[in-house]
Order: sequence, then structure tokens, then C-alpha cells
Amino acid sequence: MSQLTIALTKGRILRETLPLLSGAGIEPAEDIESSRKLIFDTSRPGVRLLILRGSDVPTYVQYGSADLGVSGKDTLMEHGGDGFYEPLDLRIARCRLMTAGVAGGSRARGRIKVATKYVNVARRFYAEEGRQADIIKLYGAMELAPLMDLADEIVDIVDTGNTLRANGLEPRQTIADISSRLIVNKAAMKMKHSLIQPLLEELAGALAERQT
Ligand code: AMP
Repeated sequence: MSQLTIALTKGRILRETLPLLSGAGIEPAEDIESSRKLIFDTSRPGVRLLILRGSDVPTYVQYGSADLGVSGKDTLMEHGGDGFYEPLDLRIARCRLMTAGVAGGSRARGRIKVATKYVNVARRFYAEEGRQADIIKLYGAMELAPLMDLADEIVDIVDTGNTLRANGLEPRQTIADISSRLIVNKAAMKMKHSLIQPLLEELAGALAERQT
């Protein structure tokens, strides 16, 4: 029997995705958050879930090792979006991708330093703005960089803005509004259409129900 593999990420996205999957009749066979396993069978025969690091979800779907995936738009923008379709905005895990700098500080002129884990997004954004920027790759705690003079600005995810404020920073420009998206491998969309199309419709139905 043909299998469908769906790639997910632990944490906020998983917690908000599971109720949607449940609405489409897909329940993990055991509790994912408390398990160390990386592959889970589900209540729906032939459908299994893979638990990956967020930035690996688009890669697994791009190469077809997973047929579908749920990934933040920020991760998709950074990845580049080759090899998959993005048919559904799940409208979960919403936030903004923003620039930020020291609160009350004046915007640096000339060539600036920008610290971020979103190096591709940042490079594109500052180029479109016509601002010269040296992009510095960091893997976490971006908020420290302006305080320690590593960078003039950062590019990071902002939800309430509390993390920025707690570190003496202020949000500046919004680069994109972010939410989680369902992505589908392009070849799988053709080859497994009879499995994927009903699932897309059920998920769209679960989303619509949630809105009313
Ligand atoms: P906040 O203090 O509410 O602005 O949240 C900021 C931090 O929470 C960010 O630096 C992110 O690490 C994390 N965060 C908030 N919302 C999301 C989201 N939707 N997806 C991923 N990370 C998020």
C-alpha cells in the first residue's frame, strides 16, 4: 500500500498542528512530545509522521523523503522553496519576521552589520531596501548581538515583542507576516494525488471549522 509521510517539528508548530490533523482523522499512535522516537504511525492506515528539526522539514519534502510537511513561512523563505507546493496557510504559530535594534538608538548609516539566523532573507531584504549590510550568521540569542556591538541590527521572529524589550531592543521594520504552511512535494502531488487531495480538503475543512 502506498504510504503518506508528513514531516513535522516538535514544539509550538506540533502542538498547534495536531488538532488540525486530528480534525482530518489523523491521530499519532503514541504521545509524540514524550517520546524519543522520530517516526510515528497514526490512526490513519498508511499515514506516518516524521519529527524533524524545523529547518530540515522543507529539505525532506523537497527531496520527496516526506510527501508533506508543516513549516513556518520564515523557514520556507530562508530555504528558498524549491521542489514543493505550498497549498495551505494553516494560520497557526503566527508572528512577524522583523528587523530590530537598540531602543532609542538612531538607525546606523552607511554599511551596517546585521546578525541573524535568516541570512538569505536578510540579504534579500537589505538589498531591496538599498541598504548595504554585512550579514553575520548566528544560531541563537540574536538579541545579544546589538548589545555586545556585534551588530547594528538583527533580523528575528517577533510575537509580543517582550523578548526584544527585555533586552533593551525595539522592533523596526516588518519583513513578513509569518504563519505555518502545509507544503507538498511536487512529484508526490502528482503520483499520490488520490491520497493527498482528500487530505488537503479535510485539512481545509478543519481550518474553516476552526474559524467559525
Ligand atoms: P516574543 O517575546 O513574544 O516577541 O517572542 C519572541 C521569541 O519567541 C522569538 O525570538 C522566537 O524565538 C519565539 N517565537 C515567537 N513566536 C514564534 C513562532 N510563531 N514561531 C517560532 N518562534 C516563535
